[in-house]
Amino acid sequence: VLNRVHPDDIELVRKVIKRAAAHREAFDFEHRLLMPDGLVKHLNVVASPLIDETGELQFVGAVMDITARKKSEEALRNSEQRYRDLFHHMPIALWQLNASKLVELFKGLRTEGVTELGPYIDQHPNFLQQLMDAVMIEEVNERTIEMLGALDKSEILGSMSRFAHIHPDAFRRGLESRWRGEPTHQEETKLVTLDGRAIDVLMSATRPGLMNDPDMSLVGIIDITERVRAREMLQQVQADFAHAARVAMLGELTASIAHELNQPLAAIVTNGEVGLRFLNRSEPDLAEVRELTKCVVNDARRAADIIARVRTMATRQAAEQELLSVDEVIGEALLFLRHEVQSDGLMVTHYPDPTAPKVLGDRTQLQQVFVNLTVNAIQAMAQTGTTRRTLVIRTTLSDPHTLCCTLEDNGPGIKPEHLDRLFDSFFTTKDGMGLGLAISRSLIEAHGGRIRADNESAYGGARFSFTLPAQVH
Ligand code: ADP
Repeated sequence: VLNRVHPDDIELVRKVIKRAAAHREAFDFEHRLLMPDGLVKHLNVVASPLIDETGELQFVGAVMDITARKKSEEALRNSEQRYRDLFHHMPIALWQLNASKLVELFKGLRTEGVTELGPYIDQHPNFLQQLMDAVMIEEVNERTIEMLGALDKSEILGSMSRFAHIHPDAFRRGLESRWRGEPTHQEETKLVTLDGRAIDVLMSATRPGLMNDPDMSLVGIIDITERVRAREMLQQVQADFAHAARVAMLGELTASIAHELNQPLAAIVTNGEVGLRFLNRSEPDLAEVRELTKCVVNDARRAADIIARVRTMATRQAAEQELLSVDEVIGEALLFLRHEVQSDGLMVTHYPDPTAPKVLGDRTQLQQVFVNLTVNAIQAMAQTGTTRRTLVIRTTLSDPHTLCCTLEDNGPGIKPEHLDRLFDSFFTTKDGMGLGLAISRSLIEAHGGRIRADNESAYGGARFSFTLPAQVH
């Protein structure tokens, strides 16, 4: 047998046998064989000492070929090592969480009859802390230590409540997702590092549901601070650009706004003068003066409203998201353009959809899109010289999650060769800046929608339509 023993194991085999012989004791060990064809086999040799009738020491036992077992053990070791290497050297921060205590707490809640976690936490605010205590960070990789500004992983490992740098709301949403049995949860959130920096991160939790570790979660965290900052800067530039275009648009509308403002002011002057005359009579007609004063107040309010609308359009403000009715926004935009819209021979009809769901957006920016599309249509129709100019604005639900607004006019339409360039910055066929549609597109896209133009208007001119995601609850 020794002939076949792997050269590296010969010494070991000799030693074991020598020792067993010297002490006359049993042995159980493993060694390798090197076969003539170069193959390596693993053997497990088990033997006990026996003294035969001649008084000579012999060993009796068994030799088992354990090559297959050795191979599968090695494969497992390699795969574990590979997993560990991957885990530690991945360029994203990885955390391995043990949630078995959490799962127990969840089970308890379910037996108590709790079906939704969110309302339960609302009623028992301290429970969130208990849940945080129940999640253990078992392992983290190098990138985590670096990202969190820790000295080593001992500063991070342990109960999640020990590392209280995750926003509780984000933690809570992750828990609710687990409660609902979702296999993954992803969200952008902020994280405070151990050295006190606030970073933006994309956090995704996966619950692979492993056979041997069903409650394990793997959390991956990517530092997106730079990306978020770039996005914020882009939004700022976009807001500045939109503001500049709004101011330019107001410039175009100055004559119309002045006219609009002049109406209540002229009425105030007239009513004031008539009132004074009534007061100067030997017997002042106070009832008449009271009525006239009411008109003055109303007209002054109307003037103030116009100025407020202009001011909102003119001021530079940070975009503010709120739930809006698109038809309400259209109504406000049309009010803003009242003087333009009321011109002779122009019919602007707005068909609202009273059942339409709301959208999430910035009121001024969406108004700006409408004002721009409406002014464009009015200007285009003015070119044709037709006496009956028609603009129809319609809101519809194109599918349960998408609101669609269409503006159809009976102007000259868009030349086919211009269709592709319409939304480009500085593209204009009139004496304009050519920014209106470019800005409108960036505003609609920032709201998660799309805008397009064609010549499919039912009235013979251009049709502009844009979508916005509906907020369905
Ligand atoms: P501007 O109004 O300064 O030209 P816009 O970006 O708002 O800039 O519009 C770009 C071009 O799109 C316009 O010059 C015009 O040629 C075309 N356009 C916009 N709306 C219409 C419309 N309703 N009918 C025909 N052409 C239009």
